[in-house]
Amino acid sequence: MLDAFERYPLTFGPTHIEKLERLSAHLGGKVQLYAKRDDCNSGLAFGGNKLRKLEYIIPDAIASGADTLVSIGGVQSNHTRMIAAVAAKIGFKCRLVQEAWVPHEDAVYDRVGNIMLSRIMGADVRLVDDGFDIGIRKSWEDAIEEVKANGGKPYAIPAGASVHPYGGLGYVGFAEEVRAQEEELGFKFDYIVVCTVTGSTHAGMTVGFAKDGRANRVIGIDASFTPQQTREQVLAIAKRTADLVKLGREITSGDVVLIEDYAYPVYGVPSEETKDAIRLVGRLEGMITDPVYEGKSMQGMIDLVKKGYFPEGSKVLYAHLGGAPALNGYGYAFRNG
Ligand SMILES: *Cc1c(COP(=O)(O)O)cnc(C)c1O
Repeated sequence: MLDAFERYPLTFGPTHIEKLERLSAHLGGKVQLYAKRDDCNSGLAFGGNKLRKLEYIIPDAIASGADTLVSIGGVQSNHTRMIAAVAAKIGFKCRLVQEAWVPHEDAVYDRVGNIMLSRIMGADVRLVDDGFDIGIRKSWEDAIEEVKANGGKPYAIPAGASVHPYGGLGYVGFAEEVRAQEEELGFKFDYIVVCTVTGSTHAGMTVGFAKDGRANRVIGIDASFTPQQTREQVLAIAKRTADLVKLGREITSGDVVLIEDYAYPVYGVPSEETKDAIRLVGRLEGMITDPVYEGKSMQGMIDLVKKGYFPEGSKVLYAHLGGAPALNGYGYAFRNG
């Protein structure tokens, strides 16, 4: 589906699929859980889902003649950490706007984890006071203007690399990769569980899996706590991406499944149940999930298994999208394990 698009390799290649044997058994053994480890997809600053997206955006950035990547996220944004890594790797400068998206308990929140890594990689990191919003932000537009005013040539990448015209392509590729891996495994996954916030990961998967009739088997777990805006953004990106890859059919709202029940109390703050899910999968599988994204989708998947949402015998693929570096900003939440 992606042959017409240029790809700049930033990842190791197809990511590993592993069975979550002990978690599946712990939850009753009626549903078989697997994880696709996009959290281990690259040597660039711990990797993660944004690199799959950026592989299809960076060729355009290089062709544009720019010299500075400009992007935006929360203080502990994984996305901005990956932009900083890619900028270093391709020899660009990097200007990052880090907004106050998350109320936090830890005094070192803006010193550790993702933001520390971005600083180490040489990004010009600026903190601003604006709150959470997945849309286009004034602070980001100001940063672009400022780079220009200082003689730089900015290439702007929106929050999560999502509303960029090519933002959905990387996760179309994920679906193609899963299809190839299913050939080897000798079975197909009945459901794919994914964490959804700025939307292009979910949207790309929706388009990629629409090709073999599984669009609505992609189960998005909202972690934005602004689910209506997220749902609209997933649909808009999926429609646009379907046109771009010439899917041959329209994506409609019925193709987008977004479960809203696990994002509480707010974006970036883990509930007690989210923390329990993080501990459970850590203790049963040695797999690390974070309080902002994957802990919430893991909580969602576990709860859906318990509720019987997946019919007996289902094979469910959990897309592990990364995010562990943010844990450093949540020391208080896990001070007793
Ligand atoms: C960005 C991110 C997500 C959400 O992906 P979107 O494409 O923004 O919906 C999920 N998990 C992790 C670890 C992320 O960094």
